[in-house]
Amino acid sequence: MDRPSSVVKELVENSLDAGARRISVQLEQGGKRAIRVVDDGLGMERDELAVALQRHATSKIASLDDLERVATMGFRGEALPSIASVARLDLSSRHGSDQHGWLVRVRRGDISEPEPDALQAGTRVSVEDLFYNVPARRKFLRADRTEFSHVDLLLRRFALARFDVGFELEHNGRTTSALPPALEEAGQVSRLQRVMGKEFLEHVIKIDQERGAIALTGWVAEPRYNRAQADRQFFFVNGRAVRDRVIAHAVRSAFQDVLYHGRHPAFVLYLDVPPEAVDVNVHPQKHEVRFRDARMVHDFLFSSLRRALAEAGAGAMRPGSGLEQGIPAAAGSPGAGGTGWPSAGAQQSGMPLPVRDQVSAYATVLGAGTSQGRSEAAGFQSDDAANEGEIPLLGYAMAQLHGVYILSQNTHGLVLTDMHAAHERITYERLKSRYSGEGIRGQRLLVPLDVQVSETEADLAEDRHEELRSLGLVVDRSGPESLVLREVPALLAHTDAAQLLLDVLSDMGATGGSERVQTGSNEILSTMACHGSVRANRILNLSEMNALLRDMEETERAGHCNHGRPTWIQLDMATLDRLFLRGR
Ligand code: ADP
Ligand code: MG
Repeated sequence: MDRPSSVVKELVENSLDAGARRISVQLEQGGKRAIRVVDDGLGMERDELAVALQRHATSKIASLDDLERVATMGFRGEALPSIASVARLDLSSRHGSDQHGWLVRVRRGDISEPEPDALQAGTRVSVEDLFYNVPARRKFLRADRTEFSHVDLLLRRFALARFDVGFELEHNGRTTSALPPALEEAGQVSRLQRVMGKEFLEHVIKIDQERGAIALTGWVAEPRYNRAQADRQFFFVNGRAVRDRVIAHAVRSAFQDVLYHGRHPAFVLYLDVPPEAVDVNVHPQKHEVRFRDARMVHDFLFSSLRRALAEAGAGAMRPGSGLEQGIPAAAGSPGAGGTGWPSAGAQQSGMPLPVRDQVSAYATVLGAGTSQGRSEAAGFQSDDAANEGEIPLLGYAMAQLHGVYILSQNTHGLVLTDMHAAHERITYERLKSRYSGEGIRGQRLLVPLDVQVSETEADLAEDRHEELRSLGLVVDRSGPESLVLREVPALLAHTDAAQLLLDVLSDMGATGGSERVQTGSNEILSTMACHGSVRANRILNLSEMNALLRDMEETERAGHCNHGRPTWIQLDMATLDRLFLRGR
């Protein structure tokens, strides 16, 4: 029990155990000030209230079989007392047959006498001032928005696990989501859309696979819809949300070569296995499971997903396909390009750009601010003699290897530069220095772009309007689930703006409140840079390559060069000589 969302989880599980059909969760200040969960379940009678608040007072284990199967979600009989020990807790409940309900309060371990309380049949638990008596833990609570987003995610998970139950979430008196019970297919689709977003639904592939007693159902998004964060991934085993290494690995492998490195698929999947084939009690808190036959489950998941993706034609989107055939993408050879690139749009649907555009791709993508470096470099071949004696750090380009690496020669020998990585770095550093300087300049779109988002994303865009503006994104809300994008960063004017916005929002959602703006913004800027960068498999001519190398040198000199993977490596003559056993 470490934050509001873990309290909400216990309370909602209790409501579900009590057979509730509607559950309302109300938070104040991210749940730090107050959490209320109201349900229309079975309720408790007067004398059951105090009992429910005592340790190990569960009403849920009737037999040993129950322990085996854990039909209900909780069984430890500890949630209410442990919550009551770290917050002020009021429990009121009205059993179906009673005239009115009863309320008991717990204050510093003392349980009050039940007093009559007016409420509908069902139960209301109210938790105030979480950790008021444990300052060390209270200190670790994050900004309201962050705590809220944990609860929001939790409720999405419940909503996907239990379509038959209605869920409502309120924050500071405002309803942020209201999902009625969805028993019919139409209702289910609309819930899926509310929880996963419209884009997900537009790219959805339905999964329905069976092998013997095990079945996989649900939905995955075609790889062309993917996320910067793993924030649209829901996996349920026998109705319980789980995180599991076997499952994660199987899913990741299935998507591996249809998604660009670093991008995350979106899915809602339900695995059903016979109860005795899985042990769910490994960690009641941590959503872990243990499969008796993990390998079988892995194979089944992997092959089911692969089949579904292949049938949906996603196989055509392998990012490495050009490479595997040993030829770089060239104009007029559809499908040879690195079409797995996350941004949607023409560039992604297997249609390579015309040669002219490919050649100028680097220049246009970088946009304003590069003209100097570019013209110098463009003049390189003719100015050869003039530059003699001062060969630049990364040397002069000689060739491009498989559309991925630039080969260049400097005084020491051979330099290999990863074109995409280098460009990403340059864009990132530029965005970063502008962001911390006068702010990233936006460029007005000729035609404002409508972007469909989930309600949460729309809220986020609204709340963080100013922060988005400082990133060069001017966005207004145009409906409960839609935004209008008016300006994009000038540096990124040539990218898929809608996808850029979605990824930035997804990063913002993940990095949370304003206290983390700085670290968060670096992540956001790097996501943005990735969008602006020239893809692998794009043909550049020598001038373009030299321009990229010159920009790269500028960036390296700026002293920001520590980002994990290298962008270039030097193979000096001595190393090359050694490779050829020369000189010894
Ligand atoms: P557990 O859920 O493991 O039994 P809890 O401490 O969460 O333990 O709850 C203790 C008991 O209180 C439950 O077994 C149940 O009888 C009762 N209870 C808790 N919440 C509710 C609710 N929302 N509706 C009806 N009964 C509840
Ligand atoms: Mg419980």
